[in-house]
Amino acid sequence: MSIQQILDNNQQWVAEKKAADPEFFNRLSKGQKPRYLFIGCSDSRVPASAITGTGPGEMFVHRNIANMVVHTDFNLLSVLQYAVEVLGVEDILVVGHYGCGGVAAAAANKQYGLIDNWLTNIRDVIRVHETEFSAIENEEERLRRLVELNVIEQVRNLGKTNIIQNALKSSKPPRLHGLVYDIKEGLLKDLEIGSDTENLDHIYGTEASQHA
Ligand SMILES: [Zn+2]
Repeated sequence: MSIQQILDNNQQWVAEKKAADPEFFNRLSKGQKPRYLFIGCSDSRVPASAITGTGPGEMFVHRNIANMVVHTDFNLLSVLQYAVEVLGVEDILVVGHYGCGGVAAAAANKQYGLIDNWLTNIRDVIRVHETEFSAIENEEERLRRLVELNVIEQVRNLGKTNIIQNALKSSKPPRLHGLVYDIKEGLLKDLEIGSDTENLDHIYGTEASQHA
């Protein structure tokens, strides 16, 4: 598809939106109050709005390779802080997907260059769940489970941030969700995990500074 085609598509989309709702763009231009924060993989087959049936203004989005929550990633942390403290999102979704190239690369005994430093965070997930992971004989099944375990650990990583620690003490704390998208079926599955940071409080629980 050429850039011209993309511009033509855009014109057509604007026309359709305006035909259905003349105030659509005027309303959006006034500000955003999305209910959801979506943290997903950059994979082109996992488009955040299409698979969740959400439109403009409904979902704040952060995507990176293998939907990671890395505590030194200022991009993710900035998105998270803004979404939680300014936009007041109600639900945070970490969305992994089966067939994730990043997860597969992390599980392979191979070097890829710079990205290895990013993949180390997924290799840490393997280390933590090594007993379960290595007991699965079928490779495809093992990788599918790793995708799920990775989502579980990234939700846990969210709970370790002081942004979420503080938000959990507020009157309206955001709910954390772990989901996996199946590219082959087009279906999203809720892993039905919340944050278990209460159990990790003795390590990660921190009090906000009082002397501001
Ligand atoms: Zn992926």
